[in-house]
Amino acid sequence: MLWASADFVGRLPLCGSLKEVVGSWRNSMGNRETLKQPDPLCMLRHSAAHVMAQAVKRLYPQVKLAIGPPIEDGFYYDLDLPAQLTDEDLPKIEAEMAKIITANYPFQQSFMTKNEAVKFFKEQGEIYKLQIIEGIPDERVSIYTDGEFVDLCEGPHVKSTGEVKAVKLLSVAGAYWRGDERNKQLQRLYGMAYFRQEDLEAHLKRLEEAKRRDHRKLGKELGLFSFEELAGPGVVFYHPKGARARWIIEDYLRQAHLDRGYQPVVTPHIFRTEIWKRSGHLDYYRDYMLLFEFEEIPYGIKPMNCPGHVLIFASTLRSYRELPIRLFELGTVYRNEKSGVLHGLLRVRGFTQDDAHIFLREDQLVDEISEILEFTFEVLRTFGFLEYEVELSTRPEQFIGTAEAFRQAEDALRKALVSQRITYVVREGEGAFYGPKIDVKIKDALGRSWQCGTIQCDFALPERFDLTYAGADGKPHRVVMLHRALLGSVERFFGMLIEHYAGAFPLWFSPVQVAVIPLTERQLSFARQVAERLRTAEVRVEVDERNEKMEAKIRAAQLAQIPYMLIIGEREVTRGAVAVRHRREGDLGQMAIEAFVERIKKEVGSRQ
Ligand SMILES: [Zn+2]
Ligand SMILES: [Zn+2]
Repeated sequence: MLWASADFVGRLPLCGSLKEVVGSWRNSMGNRETLKQPDPLCMLRHSAAHVMAQAVKRLYPQVKLAIGPPIEDGFYYDLDLPAQLTDEDLPKIEAEMAKIITANYPFQQSFMTKNEAVKFFKEQGEIYKLQIIEGIPDERVSIYTDGEFVDLCEGPHVKSTGEVKAVKLLSVAGAYWRGDERNKQLQRLYGMAYFRQEDLEAHLKRLEEAKRRDHRKLGKELGLFSFEELAGPGVVFYHPKGARARWIIEDYLRQAHLDRGYQPVVTPHIFRTEIWKRSGHLDYYRDYMLLFEFEEIPYGIKPMNCPGHVLIFASTLRSYRELPIRLFELGTVYRNEKSGVLHGLLRVRGFTQDDAHIFLREDQLVDEISEILEFTFEVLRTFGFLEYEVELSTRPEQFIGTAEAFRQAEDALRKALVSQRITYVVREGEGAFYGPKIDVKIKDALGRSWQCGTIQCDFALPERFDLTYAGADGKPHRVVMLHRALLGSVERFFGMLIEHYAGAFPLWFSPVQVAVIPLTERQLSFARQVAERLRTAEVRVEVDERNEKMEAKIRAAQLAQIPYMLIIGEREVTRGAVAVRHRREGDLGQMAIEAFVERIKKEVGSRQ
């Protein structure tokens, strides 16, 4: 059902891959969250979160502490503090942390009965800790102490505060208690810790680079997209250049799908809630759905494309000979994401999935999944991604269908992975309740990983909608269904492309490929002729007709990340040529117009 594909990897309080349980703590609901990697870094960072909270408490005794887990990118603590912290306050807190680190307090675990804990944290005025204790089912709770600081915590921690040496506070942001915007807004203080100073410094460098590449900043500078206050948060406005790039990406995807035997479909955006009841979405995802009434009939805006495709499959009798049937749509969906979690193009309320549903027989599973994997890697390679992580998620504790069906589907997914010679990590019990799945994550230029493609087996929808095909025996048989997306959300993928390329898109999907720059007004008419010639060769070209110096025009084209600049002076006009400049390689010398057309067409064609 392609729910997780829009999630932003790196938000979960988990450090990396899942092997062994080393630690756990209570989240804001009092539920135990476990760290599943034998990763000492997580322990260190969680210890750093304690030290940070301790320092804040020394400086602001009125602070109330909420939760403070390690995350993939460091650690945080949520604080309820009347004074608004700013970046200027961070050095002061760091200085206090340094004292705590120098004091080298041991981290010591002890236990209290729930009543003792309630009494203790009440005296401290720690109202959030009281709420967490309320949610804990056990009779006693675990406490960690270092120096004067006492926290409700299950650990584990490093031996003493002296180990938290390479630490840096990064930023402060708003966060709601329990992630619910009806609750009080707290201040989330972020930090990073490593065992070695040089690792910390390398990380800070990466952060700076990430800031430079931030797609929200570049999107504005390059005129690609915006969000409009008047229209509301989380819905994207593509400006002409952004829309251009998106069209090219979509055209490529459409053709690639046709080439691989997918059939295009287009389905509506609103459905009667009746169908969402039948599909199960209303039970499982009601909170994310946008529901309304129309002529007294309840409707919902689609959060997923699956039921639409199911209705098309079910609209006529299907024969075993037709299978697999692959229905593809660039389907736009809407989800009620909390405004607090929205983040540029990476987490939005309205987005388009490169979504397909494949209806097939069980004996076709291995071949089909192999084919999808091959397709996924071909597409990701085309966009310049060569490094992947692949995960196979197996049957969870709660599931529908039979264990045998799950086992067969898992087997098919495994066989397909092996046939494609793909190394993968197994995530036991992490599959969807309706079937096992494969997830593909890509690594970007900064080494960050992003969830993209997903292939999910589904036993639930074919049952719920009674989807069958007529077998060779003439009898109806239950069809198997696959959900798959290669990029996931086009919005999110686009945001990631901006950051991966730092705005300098490869030539083939650059919104403007060539800037023609006449030296003076005298070369303008020749410049227009050159542009016209390029347009007839389907090159996206702009002429800089402004009355500016050549250097200023080159700089503007360079800042706009236009791959080629064609500079035209009197010499070029006389020779019917252009002086070619590349955004990275610099001057390439004079070329005849036709030679340049040849060159650029070849380069676009190879999608380099
Ligand atoms: Zn689906
Ligand atoms: Zn703790």
